[in-house]
Amino acid sequence: MGNTVLFDDGVHKNILLEDFAGSGTAVQANQHLIIHNGKGVILDPGGHKIYSKVLSETMAQLGGGTLEFIFLSHQDPDIVAACNGWLMTTDATAYCSELWTRFVPHFGLDNLVADRLIGIPDEGMVLDLGGCPLLVIPAHFMHSCGNHQIYDPASKILYTGDLGASLGQDYIEVSDFDTHLQYMEGFHKRYIVSNTIMRAWAAMVRNLDIEVIAPQHGAFFRGKEMVNKFIDWCEELQCGIDLMAAKMAIPAHG
Ligand code: FE
Repeated sequence: MGNTVLFDDGVHKNILLEDFAGSGTAVQANQHLIIHNGKGVILDPGGHKIYSKVLSETMAQLGGGTLEFIFLSHQDPDIVAACNGWLMTTDATAYCSELWTRFVPHFGLDNLVADRLIGIPDEGMVLDLGGCPLLVIPAHFMHSCGNHQIYDPASKILYTGDLGASLGQDYIEVSDFDTHLQYMEGFHKRYIVSNTIMRAWAAMVRNLDIEVIAPQHGAFFRGKEMVNKFIDWCEELQCGIDLMAAKMAIPAHG
């Protein structure tokens, strides 16, 4: 548990709040905070187990600044479960895919704050963080059918949510891509829907100037060479229905 500063130019700061969940049965998760001119956005803030720690660390990082946005890449509990707490204790507005705005309230959303959960259209949008335009880009079916990522043009970081997730390694930055594959492969083959969507994503993000790819679970990728290796790998991966269609069978029974 700790903080890693991914970018800081004095006005704009990107902080990785690494694994506030600690050890246990819950999947390891990263929380990301972007602060621009004293305005903040928390990305995929997580569930109740880490809520109070992530909230207090976020407020400490903001100093006298304000939390403007809560970004929810998709609807999974490790992302949205504590959304009500964040909305009750801050004046921030939460954004998630419009596919999920009627599902997130099932985690319990007070009437007082329900109007501060806003749907992101399928095509994405721009969030103005204190004058810095953050691009909310479509990443549907990677893995959720209503899924978005954030590209931050100031730091050149692409926040990929579950894409790029790795589990089980003991480092937070990838230094050897080929060695790292063993921690990523199983998750992507089972959770990401198909190679078709991977190819479309790769073609889209090649239009961005990316220095860091920062997933919501596991280690991040830094530097153009590492970023390109990751995008190339995604583009080629057979996953999801590419593999599952051949495995559909009734379980053996007496
Ligand atoms: Fe997920």
